[in-house]
Amino acid sequence: MNLKQDLGDLTLELVNISSVSKDEKAIADQIESTLKEMSHLKTTRINNTLIAQTNFGHKQRVVIAGHLDTVPANNNFPGKKTATEIIGLGSVDMKGGVAVALKLAQDLASAKYDITYLFYESEEIETRFNGLELVTNEAKDLLNCDFAILMEPTNAILEVGCQGSLRFEVTSTGTRSHSARWWKGKNAIHEITKILDILNNYQPRQPVIDGQQYKEGLQAVKINGGVAGNVVPDLVTVSINHRFAPDTSVVEAEKNMAKLFKDFNFKLIDSSPSAPTGLNNELIKEFVAAIGLEIAPKFGWTDVARFANAGIPAINFGPGDPNLAHHPDEVVTIKQINDVYTSLKNWLSA
Ligand SMILES: [Zn+2]
Repeated sequence: MNLKQDLGDLTLELVNISSVSKDEKAIADQIESTLKEMSHLKTTRINNTLIAQTNFGHKQRVVIAGHLDTVPANNNFPGKKTATEIIGLGSVDMKGGVAVALKLAQDLASAKYDITYLFYESEEIETRFNGLELVTNEAKDLLNCDFAILMEPTNAILEVGCQGSLRFEVTSTGTRSHSARWWKGKNAIHEITKILDILNNYQPRQPVIDGQQYKEGLQAVKINGGVAGNVVPDLVTVSINHRFAPDTSVVEAEKNMAKLFKDFNFKLIDSSPSAPTGLNNELIKEFVAAIGLEIAPKFGWTDVARFANAGIPAINFGPGDPNLAHHPDEVVTIKQINDVYTSLKNWLSA
């Protein structure tokens, strides 16, 4: 891997190494051999996850992290480059960020803090495959640090915390009968107006936490019901996704939802915790002041929550528009990639 080329070309080179989740061996092999050429780094590989640590002897250590995998291609592989942009699968989520981290790894043979670069596998799929989760569970010492910068796309501003997510099902029940003798039954589909009323009348909280305004949400995302063309149905299931702010735990969110739908069968499907903003951490405060960029709340779920869960305060900062992540028209400006690199390099070498 040629780290002498500019960040745009390096991003394109990374985009063009296919690395759909669970197929990251090729990209991990190339990054591993590139990192191993750097004498100021000690590189460890666990499966297809790489951890490269400086040993400058500083008291404080920062993790700079990015995932290597992408979602499956959607007529957007291989990528291409224009004068100002890199286009293609993973350009936004998040090979622009990976390019920045690789370039920093090469260019910072000394720095103000010790740095651990983490390039990890399988962020886009279930937790049991997630490289960060794997390192946290199996070799947590390798992630010892004071805070982590996760290079997920943020349009090159700082996005703090993240909202948690709860998926659950609510069921409306009735009595099955032949539709010709409908009075013998009770139609579960007709009953769901009560569930829809709750959803439509829900007033989402918009709490301000450490100066950032979050926006909770409650959305039906799927509906399942009906038996046949001549049957009064006895069961309808509505799948609902609740997004909750960083001041709420998974347990509290579940309690709130179970209460809201207390008249129905309530079944939790899965949950992801929220993450605090980290803005009261001393090193994050220093980082935010030094970087001097706009701060916004993170609405989507990212692995900052996984870091927070492991006791590591973390912040999102990376090139690319988060709205384009997983989109067939992923495109990132070379300017944003350069800007993020420059901000981090100036901060770390100050
Ligand atoms: Zn991502």
